[in-house]
Amino acid sequence: MTVTTAHKGEHPVEALQVSRLALVIVRAGVLPAGAAEVVAEAGNRVLLVGSGTAEAAAELGAARAWHAETAGAAPAGLAAALAPLLQDVRMIVLPASPDGRDFAPRLAAALGRPLLAWATEAKVDDEGVSATLSRLDGRLDVDVRCDEACVVTLVPGARNPLPPSNGEVFEVVLDVPHGVDAERLAVLEPHPETMDLAEAERVVGGGAGLVRSDEDAVGTFALLRAVAARLGATTGATRVITDAGWMHHDRQIGTTGVSISPDLYIAFGVAGASQHTGGLGSPKHVVSVNTDPACPMTAMADLGLVTDARALLEELADRLGVQP
Ligand SMILES: Cc1cc2nc3c(=O)[nH]c(=O)nc-3n(C[C@H](O)[C@H](O)[C@H](O)COP(=O)(O)OP(=O)(O)OC[C@H]3O[C@@H](n4cnc5c(N)ncnc54)[C@H](O)[C@@H]3O)c2cc1C
Repeated sequence: MTVTTAHKGEHPVEALQVSRLALVIVRAGVLPAGAAEVVAEAGNRVLLVGSGTAEAAAELGAARAWHAETAGAAPAGLAAALAPLLQDVRMIVLPASPDGRDFAPRLAAALGRPLLAWATEAKVDDEGVSATLSRLDGRLDVDVRCDEACVVTLVPGARNPLPPSNGEVFEVVLDVPHGVDAERLAVLEPHPETMDLAEAERVVGGGAGLVRSDEDAVGTFALLRAVAARLGATTGATRVITDAGWMHHDRQIGTTGVSISPDLYIAFGVAGASQHTGGLGSPKHVVSVNTDPACPMTAMADLGLVTDARALLEELADRLGVQP
């Protein structure tokens, strides 16, 4: 790995004359979900901004990485600082993580170009950018063609990352203007109930086996959310549940939902179909609550509890002091 430092006053990123580039916002050295995938989509080149960017660049191992420490920089100032440096890059790809979704429209506005949001694929050529955009909660793919430079956000889990190349790393010093953003009073930790499923370290999932009747389903999932929050976990569900409208589609785990990678996954009444487990990543610990001891979810679990899922959830709520 080569580390090169550019100083203020020099043109720090003249090498940024590339047709496509990944842009990743890093917090305290932690990469967001989908970071390695945008690097792959952008031809193994990445610019990292935020805090702890050097460690994050080393972890990503892209063929070519630029990193700029911009801790405390607010989005509008950062967009204004980056726009002149990125004006020759025809396709800038950010992960559709919370920071990526927040920053991409500001950058697109600062560059005066269109934003292609929530893409599952994006390609650039001499004339412009082609992308497939996922719409209607993943039920519709829309192919678009844009005859100019674009900013793109890529759905985490949409493609495979590349093996690390451990290439060159360049440090970039950015002059970020101040006073162009709203004042930031505090950055709060995400609430487990509403946090992005893809980023959660603990996930409690609910499947059809948790629901006793249609009338009971909404209350059941409200209880699942409350118990999960008490355990510091966020909730996910199978497609059977999201198709029925008992949980929003952004809570669906699987090949046509969100790809997760938690430390702990607790599955209540989930069969473990391949389309569901295909979105689970490699959780360190899996607990399955199911009446069928031979179902695939229990077969892949570290701990299988063969019992009625709803009854166990109620017992857990009772012991944790969670009100139904
Ligand atoms: C193209 C395509 C894409 C798909 N994408 C996804 C996707 O992204 N995500 C996804 O999840 N699915 C997806 N599916 C659907 C998937 O194939 C399964 O149908 C779905 O995951 C099953 O959901 P489930 O486990 O909740 O329900 P079921 O298959 O009905 O399983 C219910 C489970 O609950 C258990 N059970 C029953 N009663 C109880 C009880 N009282 N207590 C405890 N356990 C009980 C049963 O033993 C069973 O294991 C997709 C399917 C297709 C065709």
